[in-house]
Amino acid sequence: MNSMVKVFLVGAGPGDPELLTLKALRLMQAADVILYDSLVDKRILTLAGARPRRVDVGKRCGAHSASQLQITGLLVAEAIAGHNVARLKGGDPMIFGRATEEMDALSAYGIPFEVVPGVTAATAAAASIGQSLTKRGVSRSVHFLTGHGADGGLPAHDWAALTKSGGTLVVYMGGRTLSGLAWHFIEAGMPPSMPAIVVENASLANERVIHGTIGTLPREVQNANCTGPALVMIGEALREPAALREALHAVSERAEV
Ligand code: SAH
Repeated sequence: MNSMVKVFLVGAGPGDPELLTLKALRLMQAADVILYDSLVDKRILTLAGARPRRVDVGKRCGAHSASQLQITGLLVAEAIAGHNVARLKGGDPMIFGRATEEMDALSAYGIPFEVVPGVTAATAAAASIGQSLTKRGVSRSVHFLTGHGADGGLPAHDWAALTKSGGTLVVYMGGRTLSGLAWHFIEAGMPPSMPAIVVENASLANERVIHGTIGTLPREVQNANCTGPALVMIGEALREPAALREALHAVSERAEV
């Protein structure tokens, strides 16, 4: 193996190309090959320039695509062939990014690698709604959960412990299982009036925000017919004074001028 070869597991951020790190940009441009997920925005791939080969290893839940095993195999094969690989993942590679499988395989073959963090969807969505995920005296923790277990259904979270924590709950891949999720939380003692928000396509031009409560959100999301990647955010910290919302909208309208 070419001793100079290194694999970079690179976070591409939530979508807006301006949220890419300078390091991600440099590594993409220097790579021989870019293996990218379907959530990576096409404009980001364009920024990589003409040099690197691009391979779509896209996984979108439900859709036909390469299996994780195939992706890991390809990653190892490209490195063994002496190619510098940028493995581009949506958001941050270490948050629901299957990074462990890829790092384990690279380690097993003695291939050096480095992880480059990216802006994860949760922080992009918090910026979009103008609400801090932590709030003094209100929310002292943030929990990232998956709404999609290995069998496609809801994972068996400790709903009571999460509810009792009083922290802000951010659910990745929870769009399809939202009604089950809401049912579990309410069953565990969460008041149905608890603020809950869905942010679809955070940081992109087609971003949508659906405000509701844990009691109303499943119906509202169903009516809104979300098809893009979406985060479900739940918690007292998201209770938004109307004045703040108006001020925020006024600011963003001014910024667009
Ligand atoms: N590693 C990624 C998460 C991958 S899991 C990260 O750090 O962001 C894929 C899930 O992330 C999607 O189902 C959705 O819940 C969320 N997601 C990714 N990009 C998003 C975006 N732009 N807006 C809202 N949710 C997003």
